[in-house]
Amino acid sequence: MSSRESGNQQLLKIQRIDDLLQRNLWDVDHRPHIVVDTSRCTDCEYKPCVLLCPAGCYTLVDSKLLFSYEGCLECGTCRTVCPREAITWNYPVSGRGVLYRFS
Ligand code: SF4
Repeated sequence: MSSRESGNQQLLKIQRIDDLLQRNLWDVDHRPHIVVDTSRCTDCEYKPCVLLCPAGCYTLVDSKLLFSYEGCLECGTCRTVCPREAITWNYPVSGRGVLYRFS
């Protein structure tokens, strides 16, 4: 298998994961269940939240960290990997947040 074919297969897998995630539903609360103290993030060298959040809730724009909780999958990864303890994490209030659909 050529590296190009391998790359295409990986792209197909990624698209499939995106397809699967789009089947989920969100009942988003207006109150964020995750709060990020971005003042602690400015000198964070690797910003693992950007790399590891499966939902892409953390993004960098001109080296500034932006966070949006609306598409959160409630996996808890960001809380675990943050080296600056900048994240206050809770589950959404009962009945809110992601509703997983497996079919
Ligand atoms: S809990 Fe998981 S999905 Fe939600 S913001 Fe953190 S890493 Fe992303």
